[in-house]
Amino acid sequence: MKGSWTHSLPLPPRQYTCRHPGCCQSVQSGEGWPFLKDDQYEIWFIYICPQCNRPTFFDHYENRVP
Ligand SMILES: [Zn+2]
Repeated sequence: MKGSWTHSLPLPPRQYTCRHPGCCQSVQSGEGWPFLKDDQYEIWFIYICPQCNRPTFFDHYENRVP
């Protein structure tokens, strides 16, 4: 998928396997968005797959979607 997400940010590089259909590659991404929780120290991330440009969500406990 060619194109670009607007206003994405540099993030700490993360290696993961993209689970989106038609991609399913092991990738390293350093781009997406952080979520900073107000009431406690907890950071969530949305990373953009550099192969298919689809997003993957990771919470503080490494739970992910998809
Ligand atoms: Zn992908």
